Amino acid sequence: MLKVENITKYYGSLKAVDNFSFTVKEGEIFGLLGANGAGKTTTFRIIMGLLEAQSGKVSLFGKAIDYGVTDTIGFMTEERSLLTKLTVKEQMLFYGKLKGMDKETILMKLDYWLDRLNISEYKNRIIKELSKGNQQKIQLITALINDPKLLILDEPFAGLDPLNVELFKEIIMEFKNKGSIIIFSTHRMDHVEYFCEKLVIMVAGQAVIDGYLTDIKKNYRRKNIIVKGDINKETLLKINGVLDVTSYVDEVEIKIKDDSVIDEVFKYISKCKNITKFSVEEPSLNEIFIAKVGESYEE
Ligand code: ATP
Repeated sequence: MLKVENITKYYGSLKAVDNFSFTVKEGEIFGLLGANGAGKTTTFRIIMGLLEAQSGKVSLFGKAIDYGVTDTIGFMTEERSLLTKLTVKEQMLFYGKLKGMDKETILMKLDYWLDRLNISEYKNRIIKELSKGNQQKIQLITALINDPKLLILDEPFAGLDPLNVELFKEIIMEFKNKGSIIIFSTHRMDHVEYFCEKLVIMVAGQAVIDGYLTDIKKNYRRKNIIVKGDINKETLLKINGVLDVTSYVDEVEIKIKDDSVIDEVFKYISKCKNITKFSVEEPSLNEIFIAKVGESYEE
């Protein structure tokens, strides 16, 4: 288990991380969400031991993170710290050896991952000649090559096209299924919703929403009903527990206080004409965040 307990980090007088705690178990994907400057990278650096917190502690499998365990960690940094003058193969041999791997294993794993990421033809190319997305794939391989028990991915999807986002997610899921502890940061809620089960949303160094996604959604009792057909907005708004009604191009979204309101809304809708859809849906994470924190989180 990765345990982060009450870490606080100041840069001068700026409190970048404020008494922040979370735990992640083997086989869990943990999402650290936050706007630019929320404190995500600082948190990762503290976990990796690259920065010292003023207070609090971090442990992996019950032990402090030091050189003794770095061989079992994979880290994809936000700065994309590749050795850009080397070829892909040279860089991977360098990183693999740092992780205590032998040459034969490094080259075997490299061939496998290059193939999985559809970039085998770049093995002997200088890294700086690769496109940004392909450099990102190389960065992912450096994080994975040692089959890490703890995989830390700082903004892994930033700048990727949708197909490659899916490919990265698929690979990360495989590590989850093998029992790795995975933590990743993002400022995109949609990258989290169908992908990680546990998350923290950070604002100014503190957790504003945290826990398992299913619990967060369950505890947030509001729901949305999506309807297609001829309805009267004013009548709906008169139903007790209907909070808001918004018309979109061909659908209407009815926000309700909780499940108890569904029957009343259904009774009214069943009397309306041309109804082709009635669907009760959970709110998005973005919607929960806006309701709790009061600001839009969209890019
Ligand atoms: P982003 O999504 O933009 O990468 P982040 O959530 O990773 O942001 P951090 O990089 O951890 O946020 O920064 C948290 C706060 O600490 C910000 O206000 C940032 O300006 C500040 N900060 C980060 N690094 C330093 C530093 N070396 N010196 C001073 N302040 C810093």
